[in-house]
Amino acid sequence: MLLELKEAAEHEARAVLRSHLPEGKRTQASEQSVLEALRQLGKTEPALEYNCGACGYHTCREKASAVALGRAELEMCLPFMRAKAESLSNLILASTPNAIVVVDKELCVQEWNAAAERMFGVPASLAKGKRVGEFLPEEHFVTALSKLESSSGLKLSPMPALITALSVVPVRGGDLVMGIYSDITEMEEQGKALDKLRQETVDKAQEVINKQMRVAQDIASLLGETTAESKMLLLKLMRVVQGEKA
Ligand code: SF4
Repeated sequence: MLLELKEAAEHEARAVLRSHLPEGKRTQASEQSVLEALRQLGKTEPALEYNCGACGYHTCREKASAVALGRAELEMCLPFMRAKAESLSNLILASTPNAIVVVDKELCVQEWNAAAERMFGVPASLAKGKRVGEFLPEEHFVTALSKLESSSGLKLSPMPALITALSVVPVRGGDLVMGIYSDITEMEEQGKALDKLRQETVDKAQEVINKQMRVAQDIASLLGETTAESKMLLLKLMRVVQGEKA
């Protein structure tokens, strides 16, 4: 959403720049429109005018003039595009709910995003530059650095009352390792509650079965007793009847 708004604002600014031109006649942009184009290119001070020539113009002012005249697009400036991509990366880093921690080969923290601050309760200013082991278990980072292999779905509890699923990914050819932590505490607790409910249901069912077995045994026992008594009685009766006949 933020990106869309930004792009819409840039588009609007370009339209404004072009709208200042007397149609089809002007070959030189006004100073004001050049300055506006420079601002759009992120060249808010002379030091930011790199004049690298990557856009095909000798200087940033030439490029800005072409933009103001509607002959070039802002996107043709490589440093501009790079800054835009970096700001997009920063936006993702800042807005993702996952904690992202990047360490270098010495296991020192290079990146510690806003979600990491919230999840681990440590501000980035304190974590950056320190060894990751001071705040989090570091063995997964060590393994990723030594094997240069990614791994995912590693369940670990970096601190009490927090369960996370961790993915570790070597980046920049193994110069850095990125750890992505997803908070799965709630999911795990729900899983445990479900397991408890299942166990209780099984125990209850077993209890009912046991009770029924006991009742069946009692009934069978009573039935056996009365059958035996009946048999004895009938035998006695038969003997009496046979005796009378004899
Ligand atoms: S690519 Fe960008 S920084 Fe390089 S000269 Fe062109 S406008 Fe300036």
